[in-house]
Amino acid sequence: MPEAAPPRALSDHQRHIAPHVFVYVFAAVPALALVAAVPLAWGWGLSLLDAGMAVGLYVVSMLGVTVGFHRLFTHRAFTANRGLRIGLAVAGSLAVQGPVRHWVADHRRHHAYADKEGDPHSPWRYGTSPRALVRGFWHAHMGWLFDRDMTDQRRFTPDLLADRDMSAVHRAFTALTVLSLFGPAVVGGLVTMSWWGAFTAFFWAGLVRVALTHHVAWSTNSICHLVGERPWTSRDRSTNVWLLAIPSMGESWHNLHHADPTSARHGVGRGEIDISAGVIRLFEKLGWARDVRWPTPARLEKLAVKA
Ligand SMILES: [Zn+2]
Ligand SMILES: [Zn+2]
Repeated sequence: MPEAAPPRALSDHQRHIAPHVFVYVFAAVPALALVAAVPLAWGWGLSLLDAGMAVGLYVVSMLGVTVGFHRLFTHRAFTANRGLRIGLAVAGSLAVQGPVRHWVADHRRHHAYADKEGDPHSPWRYGTSPRALVRGFWHAHMGWLFDRDMTDQRRFTPDLLADRDMSAVHRAFTALTVLSLFGPAVVGGLVTMSWWGAFTAFFWAGLVRVALTHHVAWSTNSICHLVGERPWTSRDRSTNVWLLAIPSMGESWHNLHHADPTSARHGVGRGEIDISAGVIRLFEKLGWARDVRWPTPARLEKLAVKA
């Protein structure tokens, strides 16, 4: 089926209500409902152990994706020693967003064609009417995963194909997925010596935690190309969304990221918290990361949208 050609020139000041409503209904409300369920379940269906494992795995797997899959493997914003490379590839795989080479290939294609034909997940794919944008939001958020054509790895990830460590982690994806989902259940069951303890750990630290990381990561593809601020010059429709800065570990400063993809820091403005950049700084101090591409004032000056 031929796709409608995506728009190339569109006023940034155009506002559409429908996609905004859709964002709240399908992305924000379920997440908030989940958070609201925490006090309700506390004590009988959610233990301190479950919450601790959920938060711990969320942070580790999310940083594996943001620092590892994204800033290191996709964009080479820094160089890491072998142990750190393998550790980040394993941590990112625990987020269950696909094996490392698939993730990197899709994301490099996203940058190559951002919001144009060929982008695997642009919310602008179907046009600019409110109806087309609602459909586009769904496609960019998660629909693309169900009806996508696989990105050619030989074209987009020759470096990772030649890397034996990455190939080993790539092949271990199914095993790491099982570990990520069911590992917490084993721990919960053994600590409480009960099936109920295994179940609640599986529910919160397995299912709910993976679902949250999925929605936050997908929001970068959907919300951060649809609504938000655009203070930086980029050839696409990427935006900065402050609300997602902390859960996304700094990835929602997505407009700066498209303006300067190889920068190790995405949140560069005053008060723009970027946890991933802080972690890269820590790795640099420990001597595990080097050649870090920190943004310079001169470069930012060039990228800023002139009034
Ligand atoms: Zn993007
Ligand atoms: Zn990127």
